[in-house]
Amino acid sequence: MKTHARLALPALASALIVTTPAWAQSAFEAAQGRGREAAATTAPGAPSTLETIASDALENDTIAYDFVEGVTTEVGPRQAGTEAEARARVWAMAWLKARGFENVEAEPFEMETWVPGDTHKVEVLAPFPQPMVVQPLGNSASTGPEGIEAEVVEFESVAALSAAEDGSLDGKIAYITHQMRPSMDGSHYGFAGPVRWFGPSIAASKGAVATVIRSVGTDRSRNPHTGGTSFPARTSPIPAGALSLADADNLERMFDRAGTRAVRMKLTLTPRLLGTTKSANVVGEIVGSNPDLPPVLLACHLDSWWNAPGAFDDGAGCGIITAAALHVARAGQPLRTIRVLLAGAEEVGLWGSKAYSAAHIDEPIAVGLESDFGADRIWRFESNFGETNPDLHRRLAQALARYGVANSTITASGGADINIARDQKTAIIDLQQDGTRYFDLHHTPDDTLDKIDKVQLRQNVAVWTTVAGILSQEAASIQTGGLIPSAPPTMGQ
Ligand SMILES: [Zn+2]
Repeated sequence: MKTHARLALPALASALIVTTPAWAQSAFEAAQGRGREAAATTAPGAPSTLETIASDALENDTIAYDFVEGVTTEVGPRQAGTEAEARARVWAMAWLKARGFENVEAEPFEMETWVPGDTHKVEVLAPFPQPMVVQPLGNSASTGPEGIEAEVVEFESVAALSAAEDGSLDGKIAYITHQMRPSMDGSHYGFAGPVRWFGPSIAASKGAVATVIRSVGTDRSRNPHTGGTSFPARTSPIPAGALSLADADNLERMFDRAGTRAVRMKLTLTPRLLGTTKSANVVGEIVGSNPDLPPVLLACHLDSWWNAPGAFDDGAGCGIITAAALHVARAGQPLRTIRVLLAGAEEVGLWGSKAYSAAHIDEPIAVGLESDFGADRIWRFESNFGETNPDLHRRLAQALARYGVANSTITASGGADINIARDQKTAIIDLQQDGTRYFDLHHTPDDTLDKIDKVQLRQNVAVWTTVAGILSQEAASIQTGGLIPSAPPTMGQ
């Protein structure tokens, strides 16, 4: 295991002493908007280093917050493939242009669009009649406006559901629970997520007429957590909804007390398919001085679910990556272009990430990074080139130690929006955020601006500025440390 206990301050800073060009300074000042204080700490034309700029961002950045405040205030929920997502794109493109990004474009693609409809109701009919709170899962079928009444069968896990005999759920509603707990690395999402991702299709394959799940979340509010579920081509979609955690607890108490009595439920969900609609990825660039070098790709996603203003998921991520790119520009024009990708249609099936990779697969990128895990502090640095380019991995880890970020030998695999990095088998970095409260908010109406902790948000910006700054000044291959273009583009792991 690599150690980060003894820290040599990086020589990076002195290597990057440059004069801030006027274009970068004015872009930065425009970006700061209401935050003139920070801009004043670096006078135009004054020498600046990446290190001082990142430290300044830690104290003074207002760009990331400006993005997430703006998109949640002026757009709000922005479900993929809908008019709301289109408004978010218009908003984001204007924001990027106003702050000095070049080559700002929307890259359209087509997608199959599902919308939640207007009626989301659930009622326990027996043995203890009462209403509960439910939201549909993405790709849920409709019950029709009249709803479905059926007996509910409880499963403690996806494994228990999978073990049920074929046909044993004919005419019934499957209820699937789990025991997700908050975790700093978000690993319980992998543990509980299958309940939502696969539970409804497994229940359908065994004859169920509908599925309700315990929300994949960790809060004690009464907000159900939506999110996508998927039905393989051979399985007809059935209605699928998530109960709030409080209601799931209540339903489980009912099962405990029901004895021989059936638990019966009426579920009414009216989602619709809109068919093929348009979405798009939004891209922008800080153009580097050497166009022959593959760019550094920083990604986030612009869409949210219909019920979520999307401050944590993922307005914050888009604010973090764009702020970092603008801060790097203050240190001088980077060697490599920094491209930001504000992906469309992530939540509903990574349509944007796939479309971006398909459109650009033949244009090598140097390295891909994504911010999509809220706005709380970054605590761990991971790359997939620790073995192939240990010098760069070490320099990055050393530069991040001052921000309380630990080094790691875990191999980075990248987030949902950087399919292209995986498809090109190129370099990937993961900057892991503290996810302890992420799943309190994820895909709920509580994912609002007030949840953003500005101090932690600025730590994200300082870390991303440091990483993007080092990567964009790297002349050698990020993945191998070798010379470009002789380094083979597909030497991945
Ligand atoms: Zn997200």
